[in-house]
Amino acid sequence: MLNEAKVLLKKYYGYDSFREGQEKVINSILEGKDTFAIMPTGAGKSICYQIPALLMKGITIVISPLISLMKDQVDALNDIGVKASFINSSLDQYELQERILMAVSGYTKLLYVAPERLESESFCDLIKTLNISMIAIDECHCVSQWGHDFRPSYRSIAPLIKKLDHRPIVSAFTATATSEVKEDVVKLLNLKNSNVYTTGFDRKNLFFSVVRGENKKDYLLKYLENNKDQVGIIYAGTRKEVDNIHDVLTKKGYSVGKYHAGMSDSARTKAQEDFLYDNVNIIVATNAFGMGIDKSNVRYVIHYNIPKNMEAYYQEAGRAGRDGEPSECILLFGAQDIMLQKFLIEQSIFSEERRINEYRRLQDVVDYCHTTKCLRKFILEYFGESDVPDSCDNCSVCKDETELTDITIDAQKIFSCIARMKQKFGTVLVSQVLRGSKDKKVLDFGFEKLSTYGIMKNYTVKEIKDLVNVLIADEYLYLTESQFPVVRLKENAVKVLKGEEKVFQKIHKAKKKITQENSLFLLLKSVRKTISEREAVPPYIIFADATLREMSEKFPENDEELLNIKGVGESKLQKYGEEFLNAIKAYLKENPSEKVSHEPIKELQPDESNKHDIPSHVITLNMYNEGKSLEEISKERNLKYLTIEDHIMRCALEGMDVNLDLFIPKEYEECIFEAIKKSGSTKLRSIKEMLPEEVSYTAIKAALCKKQNSA
Ligand code: ADP
Repeated sequence: MLNEAKVLLKKYYGYDSFREGQEKVINSILEGKDTFAIMPTGAGKSICYQIPALLMKGITIVISPLISLMKDQVDALNDIGVKASFINSSLDQYELQERILMAVSGYTKLLYVAPERLESESFCDLIKTLNISMIAIDECHCVSQWGHDFRPSYRSIAPLIKKLDHRPIVSAFTATATSEVKEDVVKLLNLKNSNVYTTGFDRKNLFFSVVRGENKKDYLLKYLENNKDQVGIIYAGTRKEVDNIHDVLTKKGYSVGKYHAGMSDSARTKAQEDFLYDNVNIIVATNAFGMGIDKSNVRYVIHYNIPKNMEAYYQEAGRAGRDGEPSECILLFGAQDIMLQKFLIEQSIFSEERRINEYRRLQDVVDYCHTTKCLRKFILEYFGESDVPDSCDNCSVCKDETELTDITIDAQKIFSCIARMKQKFGTVLVSQVLRGSKDKKVLDFGFEKLSTYGIMKNYTVKEIKDLVNVLIADEYLYLTESQFPVVRLKENAVKVLKGEEKVFQKIHKAKKKITQENSLFLLLKSVRKTISEREAVPPYIIFADATLREMSEKFPENDEELLNIKGVGESKLQKYGEEFLNAIKAYLKENPSEKVSHEPIKELQPDESNKHDIPSHVITLNMYNEGKSLEEISKERNLKYLTIEDHIMRCALEGMDVNLDLFIPKEYEECIFEAIKKSGSTKLRSIKEMLPEEVSYTAIKAALCKKQNSA
């Protein structure tokens, strides 16, 4: 059965293998067991129920919480050739009847409904007439009051299933893994002897970082400046903060939308669509945004304020990089945010038990922001994984991007001033005094007479305030928990004042771009956008960024080669193949010299096959030694130019007599070797990016071979 599942994975989705965890979940469902899968956002939950749905006789009912997203999910399925449909209140009577007929006739394989539908008697009558193979419950944590998205209607699911003559398999999916939620799901959905799977929570392509003690706005603007054309989500803690950030970015000319619960339904729908359809690159939002959004090409998620707990954080951050491409999750820590979250807990939770629980979970986030251990390890252990390596080499702790600067003198000035102001004032007034401001409040208190008045004249008030925030984040100072927080000294600060300890500030080095985009990638993106507008489906549903990137690196020139690209299944090949192939051909016509391999050098390892015949690469070398050019050989042998080039390099690697210097322009030789050394990898693309435009991939490949041979 699993083999059949794999065939469908390739045929419909264009993927060669299941991801970690998917296989187990699918197997369990196909064995007829109730199955509960806890998988992180972006891990690929949908395929876990969609593929079994296709393999089983009958229809699968998918319970999904958001009407607004059902259409996208169903569009995506129809696009790959799967017969799916949805029933919700957006349909008129005629459409509804038609869809019901298709479900009853057995045409529809997956029917998406919102949980509220299950409370309608007529719908329950309909369901009883269907041959249901499975009920798949998406975002199943909504059944639990402990979860952050409690939906009372999820409680109607179990009673409905009970009423059915024949009990279908029940599968449930979520990214939330606290023990309370887990227990509730099994109990309230009445799962029977279910297999429970918690798959690896790791998302290897995500770079996690925590930024503490920096001016958030400055950091954000610098980051966006460096990643101008990338798609990202910025989460902020309050509607007001969302509005502010949105205004700032709009004024700076960014293509940006916003989303929060204070906006009208239509404004929110528009904002969401603009983001899904790539009409805007950035969306600034509260946590109201995102559930069920499976836009795959989000390159970064920035939390401008800390979230309320690690589950919420991982779920929101996990919206980056669903396509598996390198992406970033950045959390900007500010001590004031803790107070905001505490306030929200006080305001919204009335049960003492739950309130204590929420405080505990908030503390976990604060710990995350201060941890000195690998951030990935922190997260994975939080979600219950064991044996996590100490270092991931892909987070801000492991890849320390900061430089230490000694700020002891400034820190002493600040501490001293706070002490002289009797630890009774907030950060603004302290900063004004240090700056030597003539503000009325400063003068009213007579602070101009203090010895610390004006001792930081060379800074602006904002700069001093930022520094105070650094010292709060690094726990030399703290803010009182009152309506007007007062800044006070901690024990560490006293040691610094006495000259017993030094203070260092971590300064973030300028951030490099997340990814580089070549011009074919941009061209393919525009082809995708045109199709998206024509067919009225979001671009990422047509092809993920990862798929376009692979095309832009491998230059497929026919159907077969296109099918080998991850994410291209049969249906998409038929629908869109020609348009993309034409674009690639046109591009190659204009840029013939780009038709070189971007594959890692491992492709160039000696080939052990074909031992008995003359190996293909040796034939190429013989022809080359006869004086034929690589182009001529490519034509004569009817092989790609790339392949011919690889043949020559392979011969060199196998120790045959090839003069690699012919491929490496003398004037660039030194800088190519330098770039290879600096990049520390054999990835051609990353080396190429460090070199002048005119240095060809061929030259880099040859240099790598030369280096390997001399090693
Ligand atoms: P989740 O619901 O768990 O957040 P999705 O089901 O939306 O995640 O899947 C996330 C992305 O991963 C989608 O773009 C999907 O096409 C892709 N994906 C899922 N399974 C695989 C696989 N086996 N190989 C490659 N990509 C996959």
